[in-house]
Amino acid sequence: MKRLTGKTALITGAARGIGLAFAKAYVAEGARVAVADIDIQRAQGAVAGIGAAAFAVEMDVTDQQSIDQAIVKTAAQFGPIDILINNAAIFSAAPFVEIERADYNRVFDINVAGALFTMQAVAKHMIKHGTKGRIINMASQAGRRGEPLVAVYCASKAAIISLTQSAGLNLISHGINVNAIAPGVVDGEHWDGVDAFFAKHEGKPLGQKKREVAAAVPYGRMGRAEDLTGMAVFLASDEAKYIVAQTYNVDGGNWMS
Ligand code: NAD
Repeated sequence: MKRLTGKTALITGAARGIGLAFAKAYVAEGARVAVADIDIQRAQGAVAGIGAAAFAVEMDVTDQQSIDQAIVKTAAQFGPIDILINNAAIFSAAPFVEIERADYNRVFDINVAGALFTMQAVAKHMIKHGTKGRIINMASQAGRRGEPLVAVYCASKAAIISLTQSAGLNLISHGINVNAIAPGVVDGEHWDGVDAFFAKHEGKPLGQKKREVAAAVPYGRMGRAEDLTGMAVFLASDEAKYIVAQTYNVDGGNWMS
């Protein structure tokens, strides 16, 4: 029995990594998925590997017109949106005294304002169509505690946890459930940049930081995008209808270590 049959999902930042794994998992559960990304070529390549239940849509979460157009195109292709996953984000790291305002503005524009105004636009769309919808935000363990070199990204993910609470408590009055997933460390291209940064700032050979991070996970390895799909399907499913404004750790025990 498929759990998302007949549902339309919009997933931001879905051309690669965790978002792409979510898109594949949702299609396997019977949903039709808009793979939305600022990198439209990569999104088109990704949907070619999924099939007719997925289509690529260009979307820049920092641009309101682009958000609105992606919603219109998704609804025209597959019908009104039932599920949004706010997944697009960028990583940023710097020693605290070297943080630049331009970098802060860019991270908060994509990770926080992008998620907020995508949530808002999709919530308006869901209210208009009478959809008892689901919104899933991508938080992080980085939003639960600070990291010495990652202040801006950590703060942006703390904001996502807070926004999930506020939006969740408000939008449930329209029958829209907002929740979030907080992964620990998930292997993928995102980590190539992270690893390179730490190699530069901690003087370690490339790859060493990643091995250290993996060794510290109580489960015994880094997460894989596929480790998160079960929670993403569950939160979008009917079984999760009484869950409101929560952020769930899916982190191999990383939060406790
Ligand atoms: P990723 O960097 O591999 O993919 C992010 C995607 O977002 C890319 O396809 C990129 O093109 C897209 N994107 C960037 N800016 C955009 C914009 N303005 N508009 C639309 N799309 C844009 O990331 P990932 O590792 O798959 O992470 C996915 C989510 O999970 C992010 O929210 C991230 O913060 C969160 N997360 C990741 C990890 C991890 O270790 N990988 C851990 C915790 C949380």
